[in-house]
Amino acid sequence: MSIRTIGVVGAGAMGTGIAHVAAMAGYDVILRDIDMAFVNRSLGNMDKFMAKSVEKGKLTEEARQATLQRIKGTTALEDMAPADFIIEVVLEKMDLKKEVFQALDKICRPEVILATNTSSMSITEIAACTTRPDKVCGVHFFNPAQIMRLVEIIRGMQSSDETIQTATELARAFGKTTVEVKKDSPGFIVNRIMIPQMIEAARLLQEGVASVEDIDTAVKLGLNYPMGPFELMDFTGVDIGYLVMEYFADEFRDNQYAAPQVVKQMIRAGKLGRKSGQGFYKYK
Ligand code: NAD
Repeated sequence: MSIRTIGVVGAGAMGTGIAHVAAMAGYDVILRDIDMAFVNRSLGNMDKFMAKSVEKGKLTEEARQATLQRIKGTTALEDMAPADFIIEVVLEKMDLKKEVFQALDKICRPEVILATNTSSMSITEIAACTTRPDKVCGVHFFNPAQIMRLVEIIRGMQSSDETIQTATELARAFGKTTVEVKKDSPGFIVNRIMIPQMIEAARLLQEGVASVEDIDTAVKLGLNYPMGPFELMDFTGVDIGYLVMEYFADEFRDNQYAAPQVVKQMIRAGKLGRKSGQGFYKYK
């Protein structure tokens, strides 16, 4: 089956980036969220992103218009019916993902691959709630998807070789570099390494060893990372980081991974990073 139309379910930070990347690569896109206001905000963000590229002379005005025209926004999940490949990008909650996959399984043609952009969760468990577990896999993009070059392609226990190959080819057609995660293990490669670093940074903060700013400066200059752990948590969403930490603690049965108090407090205070205007840093 040739892939022409990509269905993106969820128009938040990652859904926006993924839908945008797909449209820029020439695919038609159907973008769904639960409220049209979220879909419109997402389209507006893509347009702002492209306006900057036009200003810098990296994109033509015609290409900007053509990209936007390839994306159809909707709130009806049924509108995913014509899609040839689905990427689910709703919040990092297993029950929500299962609900979406069960519904998509009924709406989409049987040959269509249903992929998830989960940061950490079991592809096997998500796949098992569908009637096509061989056609379910992980395609893990990074934030912002327009800029970050990596996509982790993750095998669930029942993903077929053909599914993995199709997902890999699609991510490459989007201009990305892929790595294959051969086993469905929490956090895959990147988050398995990144989340413990965020946890240690939060522990250093709550033990009073150093300030947010000094921990970030130390990591940036000492390890040559482009962002410190707190900047990164704010940027990707403190809520997502928290959910992944708790998922790791549960899955590995290891409290070393549980979200430190200082992260929990941020969630309780509604300080979710960029999304809420305030996280470990304040956004203007
Ligand atoms: P987000 O909160 O910005 O966006 C989630 C969107 O999903 C919201 O707009 C919400 O309204 C929408 N939504 C909720 N239920 C829905 C439904 N039934 N149908 C359609 N839309 C629905 O979250 P995000 O940061 O974009 O993360 C989304 C997924 O991507 C998560 O699984 C997350 O772990 C993963 N991820 C996030 C990052 C990151 O840096 N933020 C990076 C890689 C992967």
